[in-house]
Amino acid sequence: MTDIRSNIKYLLSQIPPQVKLVAVSKTKPVADILVAYNAGQRIFGENRVQELLKKKDLLPSDIEWHLIGHLQTNKVKLIVPFVSMIQSVDSFRLLKTINDEARKTGRTVNCLLQLHIAKEETKFGFSIQEVTEMLRDSSVRTLESIKICGVMGMATFTDDKDMVRAEFRYLADCFRKLKTDYFPGNADFKEISMGMSGDFAIAISEGSTMVRIGSLIFGERN
Ligand SMILES: *Cc1c(COP(=O)(O)O)cnc(C)c1O
Repeated sequence: MTDIRSNIKYLLSQIPPQVKLVAVSKTKPVADILVAYNAGQRIFGENRVQELLKKKDLLPSDIEWHLIGHLQTNKVKLIVPFVSMIQSVDSFRLLKTINDEARKTGRTVNCLLQLHIAKEETKFGFSIQEVTEMLRDSSVRTLESIKICGVMGMATFTDDKDMVRAEFRYLADCFRKLKTDYFPGNADFKEISMGMSGDFAIAISEGSTMVRIGSLIFGERN
């Protein structure tokens, strides 16, 4: 049996205190999330909107929900009223939609820009060129109901640790470059969300501020 409470305790002993732990609960039942909650965990990540909506109504309202999966613009309005962070922003159109829905509800929504850092073709995300183009354009500065809090990325799914390290290093380099060029003195732009169950230690050694961990907490997914 998976001992969710001990898994969290163990992970917290491995993660420096300034690095945030996002417990990735996708596909896992509400009962498992409650065990983690009762162990003190407050930040949870889900990748599907419908699943997130179903779960959040059954769980304590002080949970900070992070959306970590690809988001379609037509689903933005469903999560904007309560979501704590959208980590998977991968287009200006999506950012603008989040902003417009957030303004309607009187909220400011925290966002991360997802960068494509892996070799795999299928993973979503901006290239650094695309992010740069977006941030250069003045229209991004008119979005007053979103906060751009940093970047997110996923490394290639591989046993090649050097490759994973190089990809995380690249993401951290991108973060520093974006910080210098577009967010100097902006205290909100501070997060580098990288590292999952198989690679979180490498991610932390490359400067991660936020790790997203599922199977090491809740057990393997089917
Ligand atoms: C599923 C998922 C994770 C967690 O993966 P594990 O290997 O189970 O830790 C992290 N980030 C994203 C974007 C995911 O979809």
